Amino acid sequence: MDAAVDAAREKLKNVTPLKRDCGRVCGAACCRPLEGEETGMLLFPGETEAYAGREDWKIRRTARGDMVVCPGRCDREERPLSCRLFPLLPLIGEDGKIRVVTDLRARAVCPLARQGKSALDPAFTDAVREAGELLAQSEEQALFLDVLKQEQAEIAELLKQFRIQN
Ligand code: SF4
Ligand code: SF4
Repeated sequence: MDAAVDAAREKLKNVTPLKRDCGRVCGAACCRPLEGEETGMLLFPGETEAYAGREDWKIRRTARGDMVVCPGRCDREERPLSCRLFPLLPLIGEDGKIRVVTDLRARAVCPLARQGKSALDPAFTDAVREAGELLAQSEEQALFLDVLKQEQAEIAELLKQFRIQN
């Protein structure tokens, strides 16, 4: 696996959005695909090899990158980085520093994402920032974080237009 992704995954191995199991609040909504959908979680560059060919895990190639469709349950150590970061994202700011934001894609499913970062364990937010700093040291991962930043900007613009029209 890519060394930066491996280090970022390790940073988030033992921290979760809340000190208690937040899945009890929502029935682990982020692990259940919406009915009729099998969208999967976006994999970071170099992460695909950890899931390819595994029973009950499927890889989907998309224009955004590889996605993994999981069996709906997993051990903590096999969780993709996207799942470990959820519902936050580390993005590279204009000053080159990592900014931790609530993932706009998460708001549809995650009650914590709708409340914002203040609802989360600060240790989790700090770990997401540190994971982002590790990723940003790799040119390939930094480019991927830029793609995610662009995607967040596009979603924000769509949400703005939706609010204006309603
Ligand atoms: S949807 Fe949000 S609150 Fe529910 S398990 Fe996932 S991260 Fe936790
Ligand atoms: S890989 Fe694990 S944490 Fe991620 S969506 Fe699937 S069951 Fe949930």
